[in-house]
Amino acid sequence: MDKPSEALESVLERVIDLWPRSSSEAEVDIRRRLGDIAAADLDSASLKVAAKGRLRIVSGPILLKHAAKVLLSAGGDCLPCLATFAKDEHGSWRLSAMEEQCAVCFGSGINDGQLCDMCFATGWGVHID
Ligand SMILES: [Zn+2]
Repeated sequence: MDKPSEALESVLERVIDLWPRSSSEAEVDIRRRLGDIAAADLDSASLKVAAKGRLRIVSGPILLKHAAKVLLSAGGDCLPCLATFAKDEHGSWRLSAMEEQCAVCFGSGINDGQLCDMCFATGWGVHID
């Protein structure tokens, strides 16, 4: 049996290969391409996080029992993205969220001494069209 990190790395590599580079791509096409590496509950907001180039791994993965988080970046002036993976009922890793760093508080959750209301103080997951 593979070590958990190896199984996760293979799913992560496929996400990097298949992730959209344009925000104009139809959600249905992205879901079809991702296939079984996307969790059933991967939300529409995650699919709108288009990378402006090939994503690369910045950190991680942080491995929890049933979830893993990996920081990704397309480099340049792009904000980093936090990819969250969850294990499905068979124990396979699936992408469950892709969140861009908040452009207001840059991930701190605090803006101007107050809780950031753009990202609900989470620091992640803001999608400005
Ligand atoms: Zn924020």
